[in-house]
Amino acid sequence: MKKVVIIGGGIAGLATAYHLLEGARKRGCAGLEVTLIEKGGRVGGNIRTERIGGFLIEGGPDCFLSEKPWAMQLCKRLGLAPRLLPTSRPRGKTFVFSGSRLHLLPEGVILMVPTRMLPLLTSSLISLPGKIRMALEVFVPRRDPSKGDESLGDFVRRRLGREALDKIAEPLVAGVHAGDPETMSIRSSFPRFVELEERYGSLIRGMLARMRAMKAGGGGKAPGVTMFMTLKGGLGELIEAILEKIKDVSIRTNTRVVSIREKGRGYTLLMDDGSSMEADSVVVATPAYVAAEILDGVDRRLSERLLTIPYTSTATVSLGYKKKDIAHPLDGFGFVVPGIEKRRIMAATWSSVKWEGRAPEDSVLIRCFVGGARNEDLVFLDDSGMTEMVRQELRDIMGIEAEPVLVRIFRWRKAMPQYTIGHAERVKEIEGMASSHPGLYLTGSAYHGIGISDTAREAEETAGRVLSYLYGDKAVASSGS
Ligand SMILES: Cc1cc2nc3c(=O)[nH]c(=O)nc-3n(C[C@H](O)[C@H](O)[C@H](O)COP(=O)(O)OP(=O)(O)OC[C@H]3O[C@@H](n4cnc5c(N)ncnc54)[C@H](O)[C@@H]3O)c2cc1C
Repeated sequence: MKKVVIIGGGIAGLATAYHLLEGARKRGCAGLEVTLIEKGGRVGGNIRTERIGGFLIEGGPDCFLSEKPWAMQLCKRLGLAPRLLPTSRPRGKTFVFSGSRLHLLPEGVILMVPTRMLPLLTSSLISLPGKIRMALEVFVPRRDPSKGDESLGDFVRRRLGREALDKIAEPLVAGVHAGDPETMSIRSSFPRFVELEERYGSLIRGMLARMRAMKAGGGGKAPGVTMFMTLKGGLGELIEAILEKIKDVSIRTNTRVVSIREKGRGYTLLMDDGSSMEADSVVVATPAYVAAEILDGVDRRLSERLLTIPYTSTATVSLGYKKKDIAHPLDGFGFVVPGIEKRRIMAATWSSVKWEGRAPEDSVLIRCFVGGARNEDLVFLDDSGMTEMVRQELRDIMGIEAEPVLVRIFRWRKAMPQYTIGHAERVKEIEGMASSHPGLYLTGSAYHGIGISDTAREAEETAGRVLSYLYGDKAVASSGS
């Protein structure tokens, strides 16, 4: 028997378990015993879907990016292709709160790069000097790549100007990570922008070239695929589908791994209930600071390096309203709030507009984001303080006075890793140190991409490495089959 223990039952741990079983089956690796240990009472980690009174509420993530194909691929392999759900429109309007009102994000702005000049010129969001500065991006010289990493803030100011950073990139792009653009690494958080600059000398030229190439190659996305995708019954369906496929994995919930010790060619894991377990290979799929704690006895230096990946806390607050009580037209997918506005929410998604089946016919669902690097303390307001605060913000920003028919708050304490400047080098160092402990692997959103798709890709790679370690050439020779 070869024993693998996975620590952490988020999507990283679950997908690793799935790929281990699938990989072993396809490669004919016999005698694999997989155990997954989760400290909470449920698996899924940040992915948590609830149905209450006809509303479908996502506590954590609500979608994945189709451009990164791995989450969709995983769904398809799990038989969830018929359950994939695109946004209700291929492109929904996004608004930006600036001054004292919502402005339309100029059409053609992709992430933060303007690709159409007319909507930018007529936009009420950016001042005339700000628009000119953005358009001049095509003339900004390429940065010498040998200078190394740069913050998102410096990158955007240098290429597109201060206003583009404050009103577009910071709320839209940094918002994805709930991060501070002045400390976020552009290379690790948005490598695509660095590639565009390096290859085309300009983000605008690069984005336009890519759009032209896509058109020439038959154009854009497959039918039924939009930029953001989810599942009809929410992302909880992904967790349920994995659980269906990993019935052979022994899952222990309500059990916290407190430490690991190296023992001969394997490991001994110690649990908070005083029990222990032996393993030939261990996959640590927890946040990095938890991995640091667990691995302190294996490798002090590795543990110290893991602690250098900071995390921030966020909360989502979902509010259900009767449609008749909302005067706002909800003519888009939601809005983002730049930090310079000094408001107390980061963004809101008009969930029942963006996705089908999120609210009863006569109701709407609005989901607000709180906290992040800017306002972490707000995450820990008590329920009534949080509800009052969010309702005040929606009153000021959208004019909503009505009493919600439902409020659901999810707090995510230190759940969002921050890829700060130098993150890629730190991860390289961490992985170098971990590799001196045969059979020990780290996986999850702390390292090579914070979203579900990147985490799913990494989980598959991790499972491949575990099988190669345990079964040697047999696993390597037939990998990819
Ligand atoms: C509010 C929010 C919104 C998000 N929105 C999106 C989105 O829309 N799209 C997207 O792609 N991504 C989004 N993300 C990111 C996404 O949630 C992550 O990429 C992904 O869920 C990370 O999965 P993971 O398994 O690495 O970590 P986690 O989900 O954190 O799982 C780690 C697991 O380890 C367990 N654990 C911790 N310590 C121990 C221990 N000592 N012993 C045993 N178990 C332990 C935890 O209980 C947890 O279940 C969002 C994140 C948050 C917080």
